[in-house]
Amino acid sequence: MDRSDIAISAQRAAAPAGPVVQTEKLEKVYTMGDVKVHALRGISLRIDAGEFIAVMGASGSGKSTFMNLVGCLDRPTAGRYLLRGEDVSRFSRDELARVRGREIGFVFQGFNLLPRTNAVENVELPMLYQGIPARERHARAAEALRTVGLGDRLDHTPAQLSGGQQQRVAIARALVNRPTVVLADEPTGNLDSQTSVEVMAIFQQLNDQGLTVLLVTHEPDIAQHAKRVVTFKDGLVLDDRRVENRRIARIEPRERIEPREGAA
Ligand code: ADP
Ligand code: MG
Repeated sequence: MDRSDIAISAQRAAAPAGPVVQTEKLEKVYTMGDVKVHALRGISLRIDAGEFIAVMGASGSGKSTFMNLVGCLDRPTAGRYLLRGEDVSRFSRDELARVRGREIGFVFQGFNLLPRTNAVENVELPMLYQGIPARERHARAAEALRTVGLGDRLDHTPAQLSGGQQQRVAIARALVNRPTVVLADEPTGNLDSQTSVEVMAIFQQLNDQGLTVLLVTHEPDIAQHAKRVVTFKDGLVLDDRRVENRRIARIEPRERIEPREGAA
């Protein structure tokens, strides 16, 4: 992978200035028979374009519930959610699905790739619902895979790829519709520490080019790669702070392409 690849595709993914995500006293109650679980009790957060946020907190504190709401997979019980200034809190399922396809890229802990399907076809999937012609789908999927350093693995199935490579395919799939924000729920949860750092390097480089990234992690070392850490407790924000001494993930040096223009 080289930096110019990343620059090109993240520029397209970059969001305009201003708040991308704004939640106001967001609440979520799950009802199962007589039992009610108050998963979110009033989350007010503003996330601007170009931020890189890690959400932390104990198991059950509401992190995944929050990601599902921000990702337009579910609706809040109370409160408001503005996505790029548009109030989507009362949208129907169909309206949410449309916004989701346009604005959100998802990365999951378990990669969620189709097993007997090669990398480029996996990355093409989100575009199937966008009416993009086959030839362009293929070209954009291949470009997204080059962005994450997998340009030479287009026809590999998940079983033929390492865990880190599978997660990079999933990141390419999340990018391919040029989303406003990428949401990643424990993206390094199934990866060893070195592979985790490689995945964080990709998120950091995409973020450097303007992509807004929101990820959940329970690992302080991983959170230290973000620019801001928000800690949840019992469905509320316990803490919200800038990262000091941010970690910069390094990918092993690969072929470097030196710029020629301006060279003496
Ligand atoms: P986290 O991701 O921080 O571990 P979750 O958002 O998954 O937390 O869960 C918050 C609370 O909501 C927990 O008590 C969990 O059991 C409950 N919960 C999550 N999803 C559901 C659901 N679909 N139905 C009922 N309860 C749920
Ligand atoms: Mg969770």
